[in-house]
Amino acid sequence: EQVRVPIVAGNWKMHKTVDEAVAFVNEIKDHLPDPKIQETALAAPTLDLTAMVKAAQGSPLKVAAENCYCKNSGAYTGETSPSMLWDAGIHHVILGHSERRRIFHENDQLINAKVKAALKVGLCPIVCCDETMGRLINGKRVHWVVARIIDDLKDLTPDEVKKVTIAYEPTWAIGTGQSADPEQAEEGCYLIRQTIEDMYSQDLANQMRILYGGSVNVDNIDRLMGSNDIDGVLVGTESLDPQTFLRLVNR
Ligand code: PEP
Repeated sequence: EQVRVPIVAGNWKMHKTVDEAVAFVNEIKDHLPDPKIQETALAAPTLDLTAMVKAAQGSPLKVAAENCYCKNSGAYTGETSPSMLWDAGIHHVILGHSERRRIFHENDQLINAKVKAALKVGLCPIVCCDETMGRLINGKRVHWVVARIIDDLKDLTPDEVKKVTIAYEPTWAIGTGQSADPEQAEEGCYLIRQTIEDMYSQDLANQMRILYGGSVNVDNIDRLMGSNDIDGVLVGTESLDPQTFLRLVNR
């Protein structure tokens, strides 16, 4: 099996002004792990990104966007394009977060178009796969998770899909304080890896990084990241405080 470098990624959502974001980066940037051992990423509101990239220069921190559109320019009021992010020095973007799907009605077709557009300019997408408690209980999880992966990664070449990171994020675990237990999280990530194997190959599936997200904190991160198919975590609430984020990163 290939070695997959783990990632700890924060997702601030709609939090932090530019000044707050820069102060955060300055506080953490000299205390991050060697990126050959573990990568550190932080996704932030669009307005914060340019200043964060500047503050993070020379450090291993990867500054990420939380969303982008599927076109590079045009009459799309309010949107940010993949090429604009790339030009600003951003190399990672979260796509298809469950809040985008639920509150902003993004569907798999749009998310797939965004993934393709992001990859075309060089961005590495972090594609989120959600799941409800109802589907878990009713045994509909397999069908749902497999369908999200097939639809969101539709028509990507093997070389493109290698650049994608997937985050398995059960909806009921996001922002609730109720994390999936490590077995549930491992099962979701394993299911995603098996789907990639069916779509592409075992070799490619072994190279893909698959993260777990949903109420990750300093108490549960070790057990979650200790699972075979979990290559890292996406952290919302607990990424907002710099010292807590550093504890998650430097366990
Ligand atoms: C998220 O927003 O992706 C997330 C996992 O949030 P939280 O850690 O707050 O559950």
